[in-house]
Amino acid sequence: MRGGWLLPGLVDVHTHPGADSPGDPLDDSVLRRDAEGASRLRRVHAIGGRVAVHSQHEDGCTAAVFAGVDSLEHGRHLRLDLLDRMGDQGTVLVPTMCASSGTKASLRKQPPASDAWGRWKSTGWERHPNLVRCAFEAGVTVLAGTDGAAGIIADEVDCLVAAGVPADVAVGGASWVARSWLGFGDLEHGALADIVGYDEDPRVHPDVLRRPSRIVLRGRVVR
Ligand SMILES: [Zn+2]
Repeated sequence: MRGGWLLPGLVDVHTHPGADSPGDPLDDSVLRRDAEGASRLRRVHAIGGRVAVHSQHEDGCTAAVFAGVDSLEHGRHLRLDLLDRMGDQGTVLVPTMCASSGTKASLRKQPPASDAWGRWKSTGWERHPNLVRCAFEAGVTVLAGTDGAAGIIADEVDCLVAAGVPADVAVGGASWVARSWLGFGDLEHGALADIVGYDEDPRVHPDVLRRPSRIVLRGRVVR
């Protein structure tokens, strides 16, 4: 497994060869060597940690779900028939829709080639919103991660809502649901938190996420 420690107890594993350039092989061989991966997963679980796997290929997503990872990032090309299993075993989906939003513009400018890379790129983008909606409907927890990009969480929430995730669920996936999943507990007095406040309820008007009226970072009021 490759990747780094993002938070105590969370192992973030990147397995997306093929995602960055047409020359890369379209497979997730890291995850296919599964005996080793499964045993490491068990070891992380044994000490109370969780594992997030990034994959954008059907085989990699399938291997991750069958391995029982805690979070699947991207999930492009994930099989729809695995969603019930994800819901049952509690594997969350972080579809990182913004991370692939540039694909739409680039496909408009230049239609995809008919080779495997082109098909991978275009079908992955086209089916992703439906996949996200189906995941929500199947009871999979959907979180609004951005694959590391800062400052675009409101865009990610917009993408989730456009895909068919209810606004309150999408906003929760960017805040209290994600917070709780990451092990910081619920929103409660005295808990560690950075805070953004809004004049309107973002669960009803998610567009206000871009206009916080109050920001408190590490106990300091910055707005
Ligand atoms: Zn990634």
